[in-house]
Amino acid sequence: MDYSTNDSKSTSKKKVVAVVGGGLVGNLNACYFAKRGFQVEVFESREDIRQAKIVKGRSINLVLSHRGRQALKHVGMEDTIISKGIPMHSRMIHALNGTQSPIPYGKKGQYILSIDRANLNKELLSAAETYPNINLNFAHKLLNWSTETGAMTFHLFVEEIQADLIVGCDGAFSAIRKQFLRQSRFNYSQTYIPHGYLEITMPPINGEFAMKPDYLHIWPRNTFMMIALPNLDKTFNCTLFMPFEEFEKVTTGDKVIEFFQKYFPDAIPLIGAEALKRDFFRLPAQAMVSVKCSSYHFGDKCVLMGDAAHAMVPFYGQGMNAGFEDCLVLNEIMDQLNEDFSAVLPEYTRVRVPDGQAIADLAMYNYVEMREHVNSKWFLFRKYVDNF
Ligand code: FAD
Repeated sequence: MDYSTNDSKSTSKKKVVAVVGGGLVGNLNACYFAKRGFQVEVFESREDIRQAKIVKGRSINLVLSHRGRQALKHVGMEDTIISKGIPMHSRMIHALNGTQSPIPYGKKGQYILSIDRANLNKELLSAAETYPNINLNFAHKLLNWSTETGAMTFHLFVEEIQADLIVGCDGAFSAIRKQFLRQSRFNYSQTYIPHGYLEITMPPINGEFAMKPDYLHIWPRNTFMMIALPNLDKTFNCTLFMPFEEFEKVTTGDKVIEFFQKYFPDAIPLIGAEALKRDFFRLPAQAMVSVKCSSYHFGDKCVLMGDAAHAMVPFYGQGMNAGFEDCLVLNEIMDQLNEDFSAVLPEYTRVRVPDGQAIADLAMYNYVEMREHVNSKWFLFRKYVDNF
């Protein structure tokens, strides 16, 4: 199917943009392009998550901060999303002896928001659906695309699809990016860190939050760390970050309790010993990868955004926020350069690569700092705390 206008200078007929990946950044991006009047085709490998009983994804909740909010605001979504978020004005530090000390994020009144990832994705899909010029194509897993013709091929679909612009929003393991790797002078690196993470739910107690809800709770413990973010259903989502080799030592329910007794004793009665044992083994610990690449574009045909361009370790809570900001930045360049993709895409690379790489570096730098200063307790404490 040829959606393209076959005319790179065409202004009479609106061009067709194919957004590959209908995740957080892809759906927001679709709204941006649709708002400009483009015909937008979103191709998402999963089924519609609004119909799914179980939504697989990375963290259950996310921190939304200023740069992400600015990007949502531009398409009129900021208020809807923040109304379903929980403001966190401070971190709450849990010492080993159970004492808790708050450290504010900024001045009085400043806060970041705890947001449910699945709900955010659903809201973005529903927002995209309100534009008559957006088509959502679920169960469309991109297999490949041709840098010569721009034709895209999808799993289980024989027909090739063409568009005027391909926007790769298909995440850290982007299939769109694979074609970039074959191009001369395309730089690429990916780094897995030795830490993994797993998530544990802290249920409500007597229908109320088990801890104070307007905080991002942090348990800094040398090379380990646990954080907890509140959810609207009065649960907390706890994320334990720890080297894989340490996860491998915790092999039984009894060892889980022993480990928590040693490092996070105050969390055991709040989570519940049985729930703790169950959640710890629900999924294997997940890996974290950092991706850096340059350029972000290929000719006037394709551009990478979000994690496809700059996946980062989560120690700054900025991956999604930076991906949302990508949409805002590209949009500004579209204004400046009259939507001429042959000028817009190189300019986007010029402006955005240094920022994308800087934020990925900062996230990694803080992770490395944490590891290298394990013997300096005060330094480590500050590092853990400052990152979140
Ligand atoms: P993704 O969310 O990965 O979406 C990619 C989409 O593309 C998916 O829907 C996928 O199904 C689809 N797809 C993949 N391959 C194909 C294909 N071949 N064809 C079609 N579709 C495809 N960021 C923050 O800002 N704040 C936080 O607090 C935060 N916490 C985090 C905690 C953890 C533990 C982790 C791991 C990450 C965290 N992040 C956070 C980062 C954030 O999750 C990512 O930056 C964000 O999800 C990137 O969005 P994306 O749309 O670019 O990619």
